[in-house]
Amino acid sequence: MSPYLIIDCHIHTYPSVEMSNRDAKILGFVDKGLAGQFTGAIDDTLAAMKRDGVSKAIMANWLPISRMKDVALTKLPFGLTDYEAPAREIDQTLVARLQRRNQWTCEAAQGHPELIPFISVDPVMNADQIRREIQDRVNNHGARGIKLQYAGQRVFPHDRRLWPAYETAQELDVAILGHSGESEGDSAQYAEPKYFAEVLHHFPRLRLVLAHIGADFYDQAKALARAYPQINFDCSDILCAAIFPLTDAELVSLFREVGADRVVLGTDFPFYDRKPLLERLLGLDLTEQEKRQILGENALRIYRLGSNGPATT
Ligand SMILES: [Zn+2]
Repeated sequence: MSPYLIIDCHIHTYPSVEMSNRDAKILGFVDKGLAGQFTGAIDDTLAAMKRDGVSKAIMANWLPISRMKDVALTKLPFGLTDYEAPAREIDQTLVARLQRRNQWTCEAAQGHPELIPFISVDPVMNADQIRREIQDRVNNHGARGIKLQYAGQRVFPHDRRLWPAYETAQELDVAILGHSGESEGDSAQYAEPKYFAEVLHHFPRLRLVLAHIGADFYDQAKALARAYPQINFDCSDILCAAIFPLTDAELVSLFREVGADRVVLGTDFPFYDRKPLLERLLGLDLTEQEKRQILGENALRIYRLGSNGPATT
């Protein structure tokens, strides 16, 4: 048993194996031979957490809306005189699907205080829908934060269509977990860390956590860390040497350059097996204090996980 408090701040959970298989495939994990061991179903998730000694995990659930829209558009019949009305209908269907995904995430967490529900919003929603979705899930359904997967959603961090999301998150004082850098199967162009500077400039009280510390765009992540003391990071994916070829020494210096007190553990379970990632982290040449911080203590502070309810101010 690990002597450490371990909090996994970046996992994904699924209501069905079909859905987790779909994501594993489109996100490129199947091609890399990584998927298949876990499904991200709630039972599977809890069993793996128990095995790995993880006491809490953040469900960073989202939907690849733009990809889903592409698929729906290609299914429209040829020869229509008007494609705008059916396209609008597709949008409304996608909004409803995202709302159902958020609802499932919040409900899945209800009987399991060790699961922390994060919801997602998307520019397929209008500003009002984005605001209402966040307010309702946070105030009435226990959502504790918002996941935005800019590459998978094909939207830039500083896209003004996301301003209502940042505004509302800042108002409600809930965290945003934002993807950064490379994304298997998607273009990294949307998620270079440099684009977050404008967001942080406009929303100075936004509790933004950058997933993957910029994954391949590490210098940009370091520059952000220097310029914006309020930003924090998670180390999901980059702990996997097979995908991100950082040496142990490079990982340690990356953590220290952005600040070991600003990095939380993330694993992107179920696409990655958490065990070898934890073993690698524990084997790094970090101080005991840095290990404690990254494995769990930082998460308590950054995501305010000490209590079971949302922080009140
Ligand atoms: Zn992820």
